Amino acid sequence: MRFSTQYIPTLKESPADAEVISHKLLLRAGMIRRLTSGLYTYLPLGLRALKAVEAIVREEMDRSGFLEVLLPFVQPGDLWKETGRWEQYGKELLRLKDRNDRDYCLGPTHEEVMTDLVRGEVRSYRNLPLRLYQMHTKFRDEIRPRFGLMRGREFIMKDGYSFDADLAHAEESYKLMYDCYTRIFSRLGLRFRAVEADTGSIGGNFSHEFMVLADSGEDTICYCMNCDYAANVERAEVVACTHCADGAQDLSPYEAVPTPNLHTVAEIADFLKTPKERVIKTMLFRVDGKVVAVLVRGDHEVNDVKLARFCQASEVELADQATVEAVTHAPLGFAGPVGLTIPIYADASLSGATGCVVGGNAKDTHLRNVSLARDVTVAAFADLRTITENDPCPRCGGQVKLTRGIEVGHIFMLGTKYSDAMHATFLNERGEEHPMIMGCYGIGISRVLAAAIEQNNDADGIVFPWAMAPVSCILLNLDVKNADVTKAVEKIYAKLEGSGVSVLLDDRDERAGVKFKDADLLGIPAQLSLGARSLKNNCVECANRLTKEKTTLPLERFDDDFPIWLEGVRASWDARRKTAWVSGSTLSRNLLVS
Ligand code: ATP
Ligand code: MG
Repeated sequence: MRFSTQYIPTLKESPADAEVISHKLLLRAGMIRRLTSGLYTYLPLGLRALKAVEAIVREEMDRSGFLEVLLPFVQPGDLWKETGRWEQYGKELLRLKDRNDRDYCLGPTHEEVMTDLVRGEVRSYRNLPLRLYQMHTKFRDEIRPRFGLMRGREFIMKDGYSFDADLAHAEESYKLMYDCYTRIFSRLGLRFRAVEADTGSIGGNFSHEFMVLADSGEDTICYCMNCDYAANVERAEVVACTHCADGAQDLSPYEAVPTPNLHTVAEIADFLKTPKERVIKTMLFRVDGKVVAVLVRGDHEVNDVKLARFCQASEVELADQATVEAVTHAPLGFAGPVGLTIPIYADASLSGATGCVVGGNAKDTHLRNVSLARDVTVAAFADLRTITENDPCPRCGGQVKLTRGIEVGHIFMLGTKYSDAMHATFLNERGEEHPMIMGCYGIGISRVLAAAIEQNNDADGIVFPWAMAPVSCILLNLDVKNADVTKAVEKIYAKLEGSGVSVLLDDRDERAGVKFKDADLLGIPAQLSLGARSLKNNCVECANRLTKEKTTLPLERFDDDFPIWLEGVRASWDARRKTAWVSGSTLSRNLLVS
């Protein structure tokens, strides 16, 4: 592959709209281009990296015994109506009509289509388990497409589905995928962790997310320093609570206090000389359209995923300003629970709380000395907040830490949600009809590419993990006008191509500095360069993009020495993998709860 005839439009500057490093570098390295919001074109090198990810995923899925199929991207609305998701899915589902006015959608996921495929064919327990997957385009009309490939509207996903006769076998399928994902992300050279996750709109019994650890991640994960517990904070339970009743003795009636120009919990706590945990936040949410109030301590955050689960709701959103003002008869910032007639749910840590400060439902007013039991009608106390580093591990009581992650894979035990709705049944040994037990398993192939770059980059550009580099080697001709240099470079190039090493030859008529800069930007693991000076010394310069180690190889020993050096470059990636802080732990025994 020659640079001069390739299409690698590298850029010196990052485009202004790129916020995260992977987005900047993929654009600068000429690997992707934006068509419009959330839609990207892969240029030749970007596509090669994407294909490298796909190849590893395909190999490991095949190894797990899953069979590859290819389902249509456009899906009939009727199937989605069978499961109720036509109405439930929200605006991410891009709905369209054909010329005959029939409903269709662009596939954001394929449970319905896959279940439809199987229900027509599989009738007997003898045909189970059936495990299928595909690697294909998805479309989700994301509300905020951003970060380039990280959150596109159109993106590439590997999605797999398992159909089993009973729960024990379904758990085997799930475990197969858990182990398969662990192998995939290890082979890709990523630092990752499998965490317990919420099942969200896909539904089902339990699930794990695979998180690539990176500060730019949109998810927060909680892990225990003592045991192998790890969970998305959307899910991580808060067990033992410190009540804010502790130590509060003042049981005098509540009173209104003027709080002009005070907006934050910290400002109010300061002004009223009370600790932050005693200032109760009252947040209004729309839960499947119905307005409810949620109370948490001032130093805690409401967890809307837990709220949705608690209310068994499919949609939870913060109430807008107009709603808050209509319900509280006060401007934003002064909502409080005293006198509210909507349902009020409070976080468990507030049970028994006395001597608290709450919003006064009037401009510039708060109430102090509020006692929840005496002054507020709380419909329920529940775990409605996000875990913090001050909370104990829900499994062992040990110390927990929070860190950021990028969700690259997600596995779900679906149970019979789809097979019940779509009548995907089979006959067991006794001729009795049962719904199949399903699992579904996704990997965001294009997001993996972005996540890998988030984790592997430096000031000069991408540092491609060995396993997903578009080519393993870049060979720089530093003096294209010098016939002897060019001859020597071409000889090496032919040797590499002949021995099956993937190589990009930079044969452009450019300054050496430009070539080195581009080579670093592209992040190719092994860098070779040859110019007049090295030719004089009869050698070729070699650099390892990961370790930055440089060496020279004598030209006359190239055939013997180069494979050893290249193997060293590959091994440096293995070494990095082994020192990774956390990799996927083995599936914890007690996670597979029936
Ligand atoms: P997120 O929470 O990030 O929106 P999700 O939980 O909705 O993702 P799943 O339905 O679990 O996503 O899809 C499986 C995988 O597809 C995810 O783990 C992720 O890697 C990938 N993915 C999901 N949405 C996008 C997107 N908009 N762009 C790129 N990849 C995505
Ligand atoms: Mg997910």
